[in-house]
Amino acid sequence: MKPELRSIRDKVEAGTRLTDDDALTLYRSRDLIAVGEMADLANRRKNGDRVYFIVNRHINPTNICINRCKFCAFSKSEDEPLAYTMTMEEILSRAEEAQAQKATELHIVGGLHPRLPFGFYLEMLRTLRERFPSMHIQAFTAVEIDYFAQITGLPLPEVISQLKEAGLGSLPGGGAEIFAPEVRAAICPEKIPGSRWLEVMEAVHAAGLKSNATMLYGHVESLESRVGHMRLLRELQDRTGGFQAFIPLAFHPKNTEIAKGFTTGVEDLMALAVGRLYLDNFAHIKSFWIMVGPKLAQVSLHFGVDDIDGTVVEEKITHAAGAQAGQEMGVSDLVTMIRQAGRIPVERDTLYNVVREFPAEGVRA
Ligand code: SF4
Repeated sequence: MKPELRSIRDKVEAGTRLTDDDALTLYRSRDLIAVGEMADLANRRKNGDRVYFIVNRHINPTNICINRCKFCAFSKSEDEPLAYTMTMEEILSRAEEAQAQKATELHIVGGLHPRLPFGFYLEMLRTLRERFPSMHIQAFTAVEIDYFAQITGLPLPEVISQLKEAGLGSLPGGGAEIFAPEVRAAICPEKIPGSRWLEVMEAVHAAGLKSNATMLYGHVESLESRVGHMRLLRELQDRTGGFQAFIPLAFHPKNTEIAKGFTTGVEDLMALAVGRLYLDNFAHIKSFWIMVGPKLAQVSLHFGVDDIDGTVVEEKITHAAGAQAGQEMGVSDLVTMIRQAGRIPVERDTLYNVVREFPAEGVRA
Protein backbone atom coordinates (compact mmCIF):
# COMPACT_ATOMS: atom_id res chain seq x y z
CA MET A 1 0.00 0.00 0.00
CA LYS A 2 1.26 3.47 -0.84
CA PRO A 3 2.33 5.36 2.34
CA GLU A 4 -0.18 8.18 1.80
CA LEU A 5 -3.01 5.65 2.00
CA ARG A 6 -2.00 4.18 5.38
CA SER A 7 -3.59 6.89 7.53
CA ILE A 8 -6.77 6.70 5.42
CA ARG A 9 -6.82 2.91 5.91
CA ASP A 10 -6.61 3.51 9.69
CA LYS A 11 -9.57 5.91 9.52
CA VAL A 12 -11.64 3.43 7.50
CA GLU A 13 -10.90 0.69 10.04
CA ALA A 14 -11.87 2.99 12.90
CA GLY A 15 -15.01 4.19 11.10
CA THR A 16 -13.79 7.81 11.11
CA ARG A 17 -15.27 10.16 8.51
CA LEU A 18 -12.92 10.93 5.59
CA THR A 19 -12.05 14.51 4.65
CA ASP A 20 -12.15 16.04 1.18
CA ASP A 21 -8.36 15.75 1.06
CA ASP A 22 -8.62 12.06 1.87
CA ALA A 23 -11.00 11.57 -1.04
CA LEU A 24 -8.63 13.39 -3.39
CA THR A 25 -5.71 11.31 -2.12
CA LEU A 26 -7.68 8.14 -2.85
CA TYR A 27 -8.56 9.30 -6.36
CA ARG A 28 -5.00 10.38 -7.12
CA SER A 29 -3.32 7.30 -5.65
CA ARG A 30 -4.14 5.14 -8.68
CA ASP A 31 -3.87 2.27 -6.21
CA LEU A 32 -7.09 0.61 -7.29
CA ILE A 33 -6.65 -2.58 -5.30
CA ALA A 34 -5.87 -0.79 -2.02
CA VAL A 35 -8.76 1.64 -2.47
CA GLY A 36 -11.07 -1.20 -3.50
CA GLU A 37 -10.14 -3.28 -0.45
CA MET A 38 -10.94 -0.34 1.84
CA ALA A 39 -14.25 0.26 0.08
CA ASP A 40 -15.08 -3.44 0.39
CA LEU A 41 -14.42 -3.24 4.12
CA ALA A 42 -16.65 -0.18 4.46
CA ASN A 43 -19.40 -1.80 2.40
CA ARG A 44 -19.37 -5.14 4.17
CA ARG A 45 -19.60 -3.39 7.50
CA LYS A 46 -22.90 -1.90 6.33
CA ASN A 47 -24.32 -4.62 4.09
CA GLY A 48 -22.48 -7.84 4.87
CA ASP A 49 -22.40 -10.17 1.88
CA ARG A 50 -25.76 -9.04 0.58
CA VAL A 51 -26.01 -7.57 -2.90
CA TYR A 52 -29.32 -6.07 -3.95
CA PHE A 53 -31.17 -5.96 -7.24
CA ILE A 54 -34.69 -5.05 -8.23
CA VAL A 55 -37.16 -6.31 -10.82
CA ASN A 56 -38.12 -3.08 -12.51
CA ARG A 57 -39.01 -1.48 -15.80
CA HIS A 58 -37.84 1.88 -17.14
CA ILE A 59 -40.34 4.08 -18.95
CA ASN A 60 -39.29 7.35 -20.60
CA PRO A 61 -42.57 9.05 -21.58
CA THR A 62 -40.98 11.70 -23.80
CA ASN A 63 -37.55 12.58 -25.16
CA ILE A 64 -38.60 16.12 -26.07
CA CYS A 65 -36.73 18.50 -23.81
CA ILE A 66 -36.25 22.26 -23.76
CA ASN A 67 -32.90 22.00 -21.95
CA ARG A 68 -30.86 20.12 -24.58
CA CYS A 69 -27.91 19.51 -22.24
CA LYS A 70 -24.66 19.10 -24.16
CA PHE A 71 -23.94 15.68 -22.66
CA CYS A 72 -27.41 14.30 -23.42
CA ALA A 73 -27.91 12.17 -26.53
CA PHE A 74 -31.43 11.21 -25.50
CA SER A 75 -33.20 14.55 -25.81
CA LYS A 76 -34.69 15.97 -29.01
CA SER A 77 -36.48 19.13 -30.05
CA GLU A 78 -40.14 18.78 -30.99
CA ASP A 79 -39.51 19.08 -34.73
CA GLU A 80 -36.77 16.43 -34.95
CA PRO A 81 -37.64 13.12 -36.63
CA LEU A 82 -36.74 10.97 -33.61
CA ALA A 83 -38.74 13.06 -31.12
CA TYR A 84 -41.51 11.09 -29.40
CA THR A 85 -44.10 11.40 -26.68
CA MET A 86 -45.87 8.27 -25.49
CA THR A 87 -49.62 8.19 -25.22
CA MET A 88 -51.13 7.13 -21.91
CA GLU A 89 -52.01 3.79 -23.57
CA GLU A 90 -48.37 3.23 -24.50
CA ILE A 91 -47.27 4.00 -20.95
CA LEU A 92 -49.91 1.64 -19.56
CA SER A 93 -48.95 -1.17 -21.93
CA ARG A 94 -45.34 -0.97 -20.74
CA ALA A 95 -46.54 -1.07 -17.15
CA GLU A 96 -48.67 -4.12 -18.01
CA GLU A 97 -45.59 -5.87 -19.36
CA ALA A 98 -43.75 -4.96 -16.18
CA GLN A 99 -46.48 -6.44 -14.03
CA ALA A 100 -46.46 -9.65 -16.10
CA GLN A 101 -42.73 -9.89 -15.36
CA LYS A 102 -43.43 -9.48 -11.63
CA ALA A 103 -41.76 -6.07 -11.46
CA THR A 104 -42.11 -4.25 -8.16
CA GLU A 105 -41.07 -0.84 -9.54
CA LEU A 106 -41.73 1.47 -12.45
CA HIS A 107 -38.84 3.88 -13.04
CA ILE A 108 -40.12 6.89 -14.99
CA VAL A 109 -38.04 9.87 -16.17
CA GLY A 110 -38.18 12.02 -19.27
CA GLY A 111 -37.48 15.38 -20.89
CA LEU A 112 -38.91 18.78 -20.05
CA HIS A 113 -41.69 18.92 -22.64
CA PRO A 114 -42.66 22.45 -23.66
CA ARG A 115 -46.39 21.74 -23.90
CA LEU A 116 -47.36 18.80 -21.69
CA PRO A 117 -49.22 20.21 -18.69
CA PHE A 118 -48.59 19.20 -15.08
CA GLY A 119 -52.00 17.49 -15.19
CA PHE A 120 -50.62 14.92 -17.67
CA TYR A 121 -48.11 13.72 -15.10
CA LEU A 122 -50.65 13.68 -12.28
CA GLU A 123 -53.03 11.67 -14.44
CA MET A 124 -50.23 9.28 -15.40
CA LEU A 125 -49.42 8.65 -11.73
CA ARG A 126 -53.07 8.24 -10.72
CA THR A 127 -53.82 5.85 -13.56
CA LEU A 128 -50.73 3.76 -12.93
CA ARG A 129 -51.46 3.57 -9.21
CA GLU A 130 -55.08 2.56 -9.80
CA ARG A 131 -54.25 -0.06 -12.42
CA PHE A 132 -51.06 -1.42 -10.82
CA PRO A 133 -51.36 -0.82 -7.08
CA SER A 134 -48.62 -3.33 -6.19
CA MET A 135 -45.91 -1.47 -8.13
CA HIS A 136 -43.92 1.37 -6.57
CA ILE A 137 -43.60 4.42 -8.82
CA GLN A 138 -40.13 5.92 -8.71
CA ALA A 139 -40.25 8.91 -10.99
CA PHE A 140 -38.89 12.31 -12.03
CA THR A 141 -35.53 13.95 -11.58
CA ALA A 142 -35.24 17.03 -9.38
CA VAL A 143 -34.98 18.90 -12.70
CA GLU A 144 -38.45 17.72 -13.71
CA ILE A 145 -39.89 18.56 -10.28
CA ASP A 146 -38.47 22.10 -10.56
CA TYR A 147 -39.97 22.35 -14.08
CA PHE A 148 -43.41 21.42 -12.72
CA ALA A 149 -43.06 24.25 -10.20
CA GLN A 150 -42.10 26.62 -13.01
CA ILE A 151 -44.96 25.71 -15.37
CA THR A 152 -47.61 25.74 -12.64
CA GLY A 153 -46.31 28.67 -10.58
CA LEU A 154 -46.90 26.50 -7.50
CA PRO A 155 -44.45 26.38 -4.58
CA LEU A 156 -42.19 23.32 -4.49
CA PRO A 157 -43.86 21.71 -1.44
CA GLU A 158 -47.27 21.95 -3.12
CA VAL A 159 -45.98 20.35 -6.36
CA ILE A 160 -44.42 17.50 -4.39
CA SER A 161 -47.54 17.06 -2.27
CA GLN A 162 -49.76 16.79 -5.39
CA LEU A 163 -47.38 14.27 -7.00
CA LYS A 164 -47.25 12.23 -3.81
CA GLU A 165 -51.01 12.28 -3.47
CA ALA A 166 -51.29 11.06 -7.10
CA GLY A 167 -48.98 8.10 -6.48
CA LEU A 168 -45.35 9.18 -6.60
CA GLY A 169 -43.38 6.88 -4.29
CA SER A 170 -39.77 8.11 -4.56
CA LEU A 171 -37.25 9.82 -6.84
CA PRO A 172 -34.48 8.03 -8.78
CA GLY A 173 -31.89 10.78 -8.22
CA GLY A 174 -30.92 11.96 -11.72
CA GLY A 175 -30.14 15.46 -12.92
CA ALA A 176 -27.42 16.05 -10.34
CA GLU A 177 -24.51 15.72 -12.84
CA ILE A 178 -21.72 17.71 -11.10
CA PHE A 179 -22.88 20.59 -8.91
CA ALA A 180 -19.93 22.97 -9.58
CA PRO A 181 -21.29 25.98 -11.56
CA GLU A 182 -18.36 26.03 -14.03
CA VAL A 183 -18.97 22.39 -14.93
CA ARG A 184 -22.71 22.94 -15.35
CA ALA A 185 -21.98 25.97 -17.56
CA ALA A 186 -19.91 23.71 -19.82
CA ILE A 187 -22.15 20.63 -20.02
CA CYS A 188 -25.71 21.71 -19.17
CA PRO A 189 -26.04 25.51 -19.14
CA GLU A 190 -29.86 25.45 -19.21
CA LYS A 191 -30.22 23.02 -16.34
CA ILE A 192 -31.12 24.15 -12.82
CA PRO A 193 -28.10 25.01 -10.64
CA GLY A 194 -26.76 22.41 -8.25
CA SER A 195 -28.11 24.47 -5.34
CA ARG A 196 -31.65 24.12 -6.72
CA TRP A 197 -31.20 20.35 -7.21
CA LEU A 198 -30.28 20.11 -3.54
CA GLU A 199 -33.20 22.36 -2.53
CA VAL A 200 -35.65 20.15 -4.44
CA MET A 201 -34.23 17.03 -2.80
CA GLU A 202 -34.46 18.60 0.64
CA ALA A 203 -38.13 19.39 -0.01
CA VAL A 204 -38.72 15.85 -1.35
CA HIS A 205 -37.19 14.34 1.79
CA ALA A 206 -39.17 16.75 3.99
CA ALA A 207 -42.33 15.42 2.32
CA GLY A 208 -41.37 11.94 3.49
CA LEU A 209 -40.19 10.60 0.13
CA LYS A 210 -36.86 8.84 -0.34
CA SER A 211 -34.55 9.42 -3.28
CA ASN A 212 -31.18 8.41 -4.66
CA ALA A 213 -28.34 10.73 -5.67
CA THR A 214 -26.30 10.50 -8.87
CA MET A 215 -22.98 11.94 -10.05
CA LEU A 216 -22.14 12.08 -13.77
CA TYR A 217 -18.38 11.73 -14.17
CA GLY A 218 -15.84 11.32 -16.94
CA HIS A 219 -16.51 14.50 -18.95
CA VAL A 220 -14.96 17.92 -18.22
CA GLU A 221 -15.07 17.82 -14.42
CA SER A 222 -12.03 17.88 -12.14
CA LEU A 223 -11.44 15.49 -9.26
CA GLU A 224 -11.97 18.45 -6.91
CA SER A 225 -15.41 19.08 -8.39
CA ARG A 226 -16.33 15.42 -7.89
CA VAL A 227 -15.35 15.62 -4.24
CA GLY A 228 -17.20 18.96 -3.85
CA HIS A 229 -20.28 17.27 -5.34
CA MET A 230 -20.09 14.42 -2.85
CA ARG A 231 -19.50 16.87 0.02
CA LEU A 232 -22.81 18.64 -0.71
CA LEU A 233 -24.59 15.28 -0.90
CA ARG A 234 -23.07 14.15 2.39
CA GLU A 235 -24.07 17.42 4.08
CA LEU A 236 -27.66 17.15 2.87
CA GLN A 237 -27.80 13.52 3.92
CA ASP A 238 -26.63 14.54 7.41
CA ARG A 239 -29.64 16.87 7.57
CA THR A 240 -32.37 14.70 6.02
CA GLY A 241 -31.27 11.05 5.86
CA GLY A 242 -33.46 10.84 2.74
CA PHE A 243 -30.95 9.41 0.27
CA GLN A 244 -30.91 5.66 -0.16
CA ALA A 245 -28.17 5.03 -2.73
CA PHE A 246 -25.33 6.94 -4.35
CA ILE A 247 -25.09 6.17 -8.08
CA PRO A 248 -21.99 7.32 -9.97
CA LEU A 249 -22.92 7.45 -13.67
CA ALA A 250 -20.18 7.06 -16.30
CA PHE A 251 -20.44 9.65 -19.07
CA HIS A 252 -21.16 8.17 -22.51
CA PRO A 253 -19.99 10.53 -25.26
CA LYS A 254 -21.54 9.11 -28.44
CA ASN A 255 -23.96 11.50 -30.15
CA THR A 256 -23.27 14.23 -27.59
CA GLU A 257 -21.64 17.65 -28.01
CA ILE A 258 -18.80 16.77 -25.63
CA ALA A 259 -15.62 15.52 -27.29
CA LYS A 260 -14.32 12.95 -24.83
CA GLY A 261 -13.65 9.22 -24.87
CA PHE A 262 -15.53 6.63 -22.84
CA THR A 263 -14.47 6.21 -19.21
CA THR A 264 -12.02 3.42 -18.38
CA GLY A 265 -12.59 0.49 -16.06
CA VAL A 266 -10.22 1.88 -13.44
CA GLU A 267 -12.02 5.24 -13.50
CA ASP A 268 -15.39 3.51 -13.09
CA LEU A 269 -14.25 1.34 -10.18
CA MET A 270 -12.51 4.28 -8.49
CA ALA A 271 -15.66 6.44 -8.69
CA LEU A 272 -17.65 3.67 -6.99
CA ALA A 273 -15.01 2.86 -4.36
CA VAL A 274 -14.27 6.47 -3.40
CA GLY A 275 -18.02 7.11 -3.24
CA ARG A 276 -18.38 4.21 -0.78
CA LEU A 277 -15.54 5.49 1.38
CA TYR A 278 -16.47 9.19 1.42
CA LEU A 279 -20.26 8.90 1.71
CA ASP A 280 -20.30 7.21 5.08
CA ASN A 281 -23.92 8.23 5.67
CA PHE A 282 -25.27 6.53 2.53
CA ALA A 283 -26.46 2.96 3.08
CA HIS A 284 -25.98 1.82 -0.52
CA ILE A 285 -23.70 2.33 -3.51
CA LYS A 286 -25.20 1.33 -6.82
CA SER A 287 -23.33 0.24 -9.92
CA PHE A 288 -25.73 0.73 -12.80
CA TRP A 289 -24.84 -2.21 -15.07
CA ILE A 290 -26.28 -0.46 -18.10
CA MET A 291 -23.60 2.21 -17.70
CA VAL A 292 -20.49 0.19 -16.87
CA GLY A 293 -21.50 -3.11 -18.47
CA PRO A 294 -22.46 -6.29 -16.59
CA LYS A 295 -18.90 -7.60 -16.27
CA LEU A 296 -17.51 -4.50 -14.59
CA ALA A 297 -20.67 -4.21 -12.47
CA GLN A 298 -19.92 -7.72 -11.21
CA VAL A 299 -16.29 -6.85 -10.42
CA SER A 300 -17.48 -3.69 -8.65
CA LEU A 301 -19.09 -5.92 -5.99
CA HIS A 302 -15.56 -6.19 -4.56
CA PHE A 303 -15.03 -2.42 -4.76
CA GLY A 304 -17.68 -1.13 -2.37
CA VAL A 305 -20.85 -1.79 -4.35
CA ASP A 306 -23.87 -3.55 -2.85
CA ASP A 307 -26.53 -2.84 -5.51
CA ILE A 308 -26.52 -3.58 -9.24
CA ASP A 309 -29.88 -2.00 -10.08
CA GLY A 310 -32.38 -4.14 -11.90
CA THR A 311 -33.89 -5.86 -14.88
CA VAL A 312 -34.58 -2.49 -16.61
CA VAL A 313 -36.07 -4.03 -19.85
CA GLU A 314 -35.94 -0.92 -22.04
CA GLU A 315 -33.27 1.75 -21.66
CA LYS A 316 -33.17 4.73 -23.97
CA ILE A 317 -31.05 7.38 -22.26
CA THR A 318 -27.61 5.77 -22.03
CA HIS A 319 -28.06 3.73 -25.19
CA ALA A 320 -28.62 6.93 -27.16
CA ALA A 321 -25.12 7.92 -25.99
CA GLY A 322 -23.44 4.68 -27.01
CA ALA A 323 -23.92 2.21 -24.14
CA GLN A 324 -22.82 -1.24 -25.24
CA ALA A 325 -24.64 -3.26 -22.57
CA GLY A 326 -27.99 -4.84 -23.40
CA GLN A 327 -31.20 -3.25 -22.21
CA GLU A 328 -32.55 -6.14 -20.21
CA MET A 329 -31.14 -8.56 -17.68
CA GLY A 330 -33.13 -11.53 -16.39
CA VAL A 331 -33.39 -12.33 -12.69
CA SER A 332 -31.40 -15.56 -13.16
CA ASP A 333 -28.60 -13.58 -14.89
CA LEU A 334 -28.47 -11.09 -12.00
CA VAL A 335 -28.48 -13.89 -9.43
CA THR A 336 -25.67 -15.76 -11.24
CA MET A 337 -23.63 -12.59 -11.57
CA ILE A 338 -23.87 -11.90 -7.82
CA ARG A 339 -23.31 -15.50 -6.74
CA GLN A 340 -20.20 -15.87 -8.86
CA ALA A 341 -18.79 -12.83 -7.10
CA GLY A 342 -19.22 -14.78 -3.85
CA ARG A 343 -22.06 -12.66 -2.54
CA ILE A 344 -25.68 -13.31 -1.56
CA PRO A 345 -28.25 -12.09 -4.08
CA VAL A 346 -31.22 -10.28 -2.56
CA GLU A 347 -34.17 -9.07 -4.59
CA ARG A 348 -35.31 -5.83 -2.99
CA ASP A 349 -38.18 -3.45 -3.51
CA THR A 350 -37.58 0.25 -4.11
CA LEU A 351 -37.25 0.99 -0.38
CA TYR A 352 -34.79 -1.88 0.20
CA ASN A 353 -37.32 -4.21 1.79
CA VAL A 354 -36.38 -7.81 1.00
CA VAL A 355 -38.61 -9.43 -1.61
CA ARG A 356 -36.60 -12.67 -1.96
CA GLU A 357 -33.25 -13.80 -0.70
CA PHE A 358 -31.43 -16.37 -2.82
CA PRO A 359 -29.37 -19.03 -1.05
CA ALA A 360 -25.62 -18.59 -1.32
CA GLU A 361 -24.91 -22.01 -2.83
CA GLY A 362 -24.49 -22.64 -6.54
CA VAL A 363 -21.25 -20.76 -7.13
CA ARG A 364 -19.59 -22.06 -10.28
CA ALA A 365 -15.82 -22.31 -10.09
S1 SF4 B 1 -30.27 15.48 -19.43
FE1 SF4 B 1 -32.44 15.69 -18.90
S2 SF4 B 1 -32.78 17.90 -18.81
FE2 SF4 B 1 -30.87 17.59 -19.95
S3 SF4 B 1 -31.50 17.52 -22.10
FE3 SF4 B 1 -31.43 15.39 -21.38
S4 SF4 B 1 -33.53 14.98 -20.75
FE4 SF4 B 1 -33.33 17.22 -20.87
